[in-house]
Amino acid sequence: MPPTAVSTAPTQPRHKPRCNPQLPTVPAPTLNRGQPDTERRSPLERARPLPSRRRILQGTALAAVPYALLPEWQAGAHIPGPDYPLAEWKPASTANYTVANRPTTHPVDRVIIHVTQTTYPNTLFLFGRPKKKVSAHYVVRSTDGHTSQCVREADIAWHAGDWAHNTRSIGIEHEGWVDQPGYFTDVMYEASARLTAAICTRHGIPKDRTHIIGHHEVPGTDHTDPGPHWDWTRYLRLVNAV
Ligand SMILES: [Zn+2]
Repeated sequence: MPPTAVSTAPTQPRHKPRCNPQLPTVPAPTLNRGQPDTERRSPLERARPLPSRRRILQGTALAAVPYALLPEWQAGAHIPGPDYPLAEWKPASTANYTVANRPTTHPVDRVIIHVTQTTYPNTLFLFGRPKKKVSAHYVVRSTDGHTSQCVREADIAWHAGDWAHNTRSIGIEHEGWVDQPGYFTDVMYEASARLTAAICTRHGIPKDRTHIIGHHEVPGTDHTDPGPHWDWTRYLRLVNAV
């Protein structure tokens, strides 16, 4: 289904810093992205009590997607396990991503950087819940850079909120909040940079800001992560130093 089938009309107010556990826009004709879908969305962070302001900032919402409408070619063709040897395999629910056979089916030429707006364990928990309809390929922990892989790189994780960008990208979530730079630790930057460097090498992706982008740079998104405190200069330097 062509990207033109995807509406870029925001379903929520812009400039709310929250990560994108947002579901990918799905190229299904029955999905009307222009309609309010509050009832079909749920915040990424619900299980953990948080200060009210933070809760407001989060506001992460996910659109439920008629997954049954998606093609599921190559189903069963994958061997479970991480593509990145340093990652722990913590698979997302199979209801939270699209099975594919990238790069054969879809060229991969972007890495998209996210911030979770919730904790590391809660992110993994939510990716494992079928009804959440959200996932990313990787999640990096703030305190020690520990990395989990939740979706195989051959498959299409639902993280960008835009089908065209989901199909062409690898999504990396970083534990933290966009307004709390303390979560962006040295060890997390370094671990993430090693991961991104490995992804770029594996897929032949240039290690630059054209190809390593923030969620906020996905056309049509209303997400702001990784936010103003993410040090892109440092991150790109680390990626290229690996
Ligand atoms: Zn995001």
